[in-house]
Amino acid sequence: MPDLEERLADLHLHTNFSDGTFTPEELIREAQTAGLSAIAVTDHDTVRGLKRSIELGRENKLEVIPGIELSAEYGNQEIHILGYLIDYQNNKLLERLDILKENRIERIYKIVEKLNDLRLPLNAQDIFAISSDSIVGRLHVARAMVQQGLVGSTQEAFQKFIGDNCPAYVLGFRFSPREAIRLIREVGGIPILAHPYTLKSDELLLGLIEDGLMGIEAYYPEHSQAVTNFYLNLAKEKGILVTGGSDFHGSGKPAIKIGCVKVHYDLVEELKSAKNKL
Ligand code: AMP
Ligand code: ZN
Ligand code: FE
Ligand code: FE
Repeated sequence: MPDLEERLADLHLHTNFSDGTFTPEELIREAQTAGLSAIAVTDHDTVRGLKRSIELGRENKLEVIPGIELSAEYGNQEIHILGYLIDYQNNKLLERLDILKENRIERIYKIVEKLNDLRLPLNAQDIFAISSDSIVGRLHVARAMVQQGLVGSTQEAFQKFIGDNCPAYVLGFRFSPREAIRLIREVGGIPILAHPYTLKSDELLLGLIEDGLMGIEAYYPEHSQAVTNFYLNLAKEKGILVTGGSDFHGSGKPAIKIGCVKVHYDLVEELKSAKNKL
């Protein structure tokens, strides 16, 4: 085992239980190849990949931290709240997540309708064939569009059609950030704001801290050193935690590799001690 100071963690990874393309097996293998000591599995709106990932991690001596990335909505803005060290077997949590799963399926039909209005011939079934039993999302739509030859890349699908504020964007039902934060805390987890650079105002971030947000993802692939430093300072000033991760999605986001953003294991220890104080 590496020296304590050298232990590194990637705390933001998706599997094919949401819109990543890697199975838990593949994810664990790749994380070990990348030399990581710990990972957090943070699928969108689902915990179904956690049990298997944690068991496989145990067998392979890789610590897998149970996580989730809840989609929330504030005004017209999408806000993602990561939840770490949650009780992923909690029934209330599972019930709430079931509702989100159904809503996401309905949303796909609405997105397809908008795409069809734009004269792009895509069927909902093309998307469900890719997402299978996973939590369906826009990355599956983008992959279906590539498969049908409607766009050249998933990136192009987001830029022209399904990205925020694009002609075929549909928000769908979401939690408010406050509801997402509360739900995570209710199931013993630590709520952390994902990729804070996507937030339109820092004012909003301060409001989220008042609502019980306990940290921010300061280290993220899209954050320049200056942006990371800004969030590190902010966290220090507010006395909240920091985390970081790659937001790996497999071939759905080919430029992002496991461990391309990693943090010292100390930050994992801080998450754990915050949980013990809840
Ligand atoms: P959804 O939860 O269905 O709204 O989809 C959000 C997901 O879409 C994000 O987690 C990313 O995986 C993906 N996504 C969002 N914007 C982009 C983009 N510009 N390029 C590629 N993937 C994106
Ligand atoms: Zn995603
Ligand atoms: Fe996200
Ligand atoms: Fe993510």
